[in-house]
Amino acid sequence: VVGAGLYGCVIALDLAYAGHRVDLVERHGGILEGATRANQGRLHRGFHYPRDPATALAARADAELFEARFDGALDRTGRHYYVVAADGSKTSPEEYLAFAERLGGRPVDPPPWLHNVAACVAVDEPMIDIRRLRARLHRDLMKAGVTIHLHKPVAVGYEHLRHDLIVMATYGQPWPWDRLRYQVCETALVELGEHYAGCGVVVMDGEFISVDPMPGTDLHMLYDVVHSVHHVAVGRPEVPDHLVPLLDRGPVPTWHTHVGAMLGNARRFLAGVGLPRYAGSMFAVRAVLADAEETDARPTLVREDDRTVWVLPGKLDGCVTAAGRVVAIAAERAGVAVPA
Ligand SMILES: Cc1cc2nc3c(=O)[nH]c(=O)nc-3n(C[C@H](O)[C@H](O)[C@H](O)COP(=O)(O)OP(=O)(O)OC[C@H]3O[C@@H](n4cnc5c(N)ncnc54)[C@H](O)[C@@H]3O)c2cc1C
Repeated sequence: VVGAGLYGCVIALDLAYAGHRVDLVERHGGILEGATRANQGRLHRGFHYPRDPATALAARADAELFEARFDGALDRTGRHYYVVAADGSKTSPEEYLAFAERLGGRPVDPPPWLHNVAACVAVDEPMIDIRRLRARLHRDLMKAGVTIHLHKPVAVGYEHLRHDLIVMATYGQPWPWDRLRYQVCETALVELGEHYAGCGVVVMDGEFISVDPMPGTDLHMLYDVVHSVHHVAVGRPEVPDHLVPLLDRGPVPTWHTHVGAMLGNARRFLAGVGLPRYAGSMFAVRAVLADAEETDARPTLVREDDRTVWVLPGKLDGCVTAAGRVVAIAAERAGVAVPA
C-alpha cells in the first residue's frame, strides 16, 4: 500500500486482517502526515453537499461505518451548525432546510454571534481527533503485523515493487483515470474567543467560510473557499516553490498566510471576531474531480488495472467503505472467498 494517510492505513489494516502480507510505504516520517492531518477533520454526514445528493447520501452511510469503528477518535463535545448566507448562496434557505432535514439536521435559531444568515441548522457532525486516530491506527497496524516503511517515496512506475497487488492511496498523486483539479489549500488556526468555544460553523453555499474547533485546543480551524486556495492546477499537482516547505507539516506560522483575507470574509458572518490570535497554518493539496464544480461532488473512487488498485478519497469517513472494496478486489484476485 503506497501512502500512509488515513486511507492507506485503513486499507493496509483490513488487507492484513483478511490474511494478506502487507507493506505500507510512506514518503514522510510518520503515518497521517499528509492531507489527513492538514484538514478540518469534520465527520461529514452529507450536510455540505446540497447540490449533489449522491455525495450527501454516501457521506451519511460512510460516517456510520466510520463511527462504528473509530468512535474513540471522535470528539463529540462541540456544537455544530450549517447556516445559509443571507446573500449569494447557490442553494436557497428553503431548499437547504428541506435538504438538511432529510439528513436529520434540526432547524434552529442562529446563535447570537452569527449574522447575515438566512437559515441555521444544528447537526451532529463530531470532529475527528487526528492525534487519537493516529495512535489507534499505529497500534492496530503493529498488532496486525503490517510492515511500515517510512521516508520511502515510491517512484512513479514503481516497477521495483514485487508485490502481487499494489494499492495507490496517495490522494490522487498521481491519478491516471479522471481529470483532477489539485488545490494547494491553507487552513488557518485562530483563537476566536470563549463564546465560540467548541462551536463549528459552515456557511453555505458558495464562496464563504467555515470554522471548526480543533480537538484538544482552544483554537479554531478557519477555511475560506476563496482565500484558502493558494494555487490550482488541473491534470497534475503543482506546488509553488514558496509553499513547498509548508506542505504536509503541522501548523506553522507563516508570512505566506492569507489569514487576514480569510478573517475579513469570516467577519461578515461571525460577530466579535476582531483581531484574534493567529497560531499558524496547515497546508495540503486537495484533489477533486476537475469537472464537478457545478455540483461540488466528492465521490470516493476505487479503480483497478492489471497490477494496481487506485483509491481517490472524497471525505475522511469514506476510508472504511473504500478499504472494504479493496479487500474484495484482493480476495477476488487471489481466488478466495470475500471475508465478511
Ligand atoms: C483543506 C482541506 C480540508 C478538508 N476538510 C475535510 C473535513 O473536514 N472532513 C473530511 O472528511 N475531509 C476533509 N478533507 C478531505 C480529506 O483531507 C481527504 O479526503 C483525506 O485526508 C484523504 O486521505 P488520504 O489518506 O488519501 O490522503 P493523505 O492523508 O494525503 O495520504 C496520502 C499519503 O500518501 C503519501 N504519498 C504520496 N505520494 C507518495 C509516494 N510517491 N510514495 C510514498 N508515499 C506517498 C503522502 O505523503 C500521504 O501521507 C479536507 C481536505 C483539505 C485539503
